[in-house]
Amino acid sequence: MAFVYKSDPVRGAVWARLFAERAPQVAFHIWPETGDPAAVRFLAAWIPPPDLTRLFPNLEVLFSAAAGIDQFDLAALPPDLPIVRMIEPGIVRGMVEYVCWAVLGLHRDMPAYLRDQRAEAWTPLRVLPAAGRRVGVLGLGVLGCAVLEQLRGFGFDCAGWSRSRHDVAGAACFAGQGELPAFLARTDILVCLLPLTADTRGMLDARLFAGLPRGAGLVQVGRGPQLVEADLRAALDAGQLGHAILDVCDPEPLPPGHWLWRHPKVWLTPHIASMTQPESAVEVVLENLRRFEAGEPMVGLVDRGRGY
Ligand code: NAP
Repeated sequence: MAFVYKSDPVRGAVWARLFAERAPQVAFHIWPETGDPAAVRFLAAWIPPPDLTRLFPNLEVLFSAAAGIDQFDLAALPPDLPIVRMIEPGIVRGMVEYVCWAVLGLHRDMPAYLRDQRAEAWTPLRVLPAAGRRVGVLGLGVLGCAVLEQLRGFGFDCAGWSRSRHDVAGAACFAGQGELPAFLARTDILVCLLPLTADTRGMLDARLFAGLPRGAGLVQVGRGPQLVEADLRAALDAGQLGHAILDVCDPEPLPPGHWLWRHPKVWLTPHIASMTQPESAVEVVLENLRRFEAGEPMVGLVDRGRGY
């Protein structure tokens, strides 16, 4: 059985060591080395090679090296090839840390204090208890639910929004376009943890921002193309949004000179909110290989119809 890994080669070396220890029966290759292409049954990739099926005629499963699969051109992949996204504890922990940092930073007025420090201004603001801050998470999937659980622990007034109806302990749950306005109207800090699909592309736009209370904060940790950057700039400049923390943008990396680098109401990080951690990811992939061979459902199997 041959397995090819095509993503960050440094982390790939850790995958290789872990596969050698845990599954020595698997011939593990780091792209561009593949061994006999006809023997390759499994591929884990951030970006799959072009001509995937011609290159690996016996490929049986495509694993995404990341939580999302929007980097795959689904139309170019064989319709019956199972696609599995990465659901592993390392990604979840990283995202929980990042979102809590961002929400706490906005909640405790850190953008204002940073500006004040630079201006040598000593201006204490009233500390609002967390219970008085309404946090709303777009997306109640693996990551959205984990983030809400931790935010609830701080005492925030939590809510979430998803496509289908969910029941999340300690969070008001909203579902579908019809309930989006009510969700936005009660959200002081909005966190986006949606996958990128045809429906969510361009969703963070002027109309959505207008539905938030004036001065709301935005934490964007989904995917860059979900955000209409010109609308964000207008909302920040008009004060409709108070501050934005962006971990993703479009394109990545952000080009030199782009306004987002220098806008005083934007904090930007280079798509590092969370990363696949080889140690926990390999455990999950090996368990999925076992499940696949046993004819059991794999964890993270993508529903191609929904696009996530
Ligand atoms: P997931 O488990 O698939 O959950 C996705 C959630 O979004 C689900 O609750 C789903 O609703 C909801 N959703 C999807 N389309 C929707 C729509 N049109 N309207 C309303 N709700 C919609 O995904 P996840 O593992 O939580 O990951 C979410 C995303 O986070 C990833 O796709 C990726 O883009 C992003 N991410 C970013 C980083 C980073 O470093 N910045 C790292 C990891 C992941 P249902 O529950 O009703 O299906």
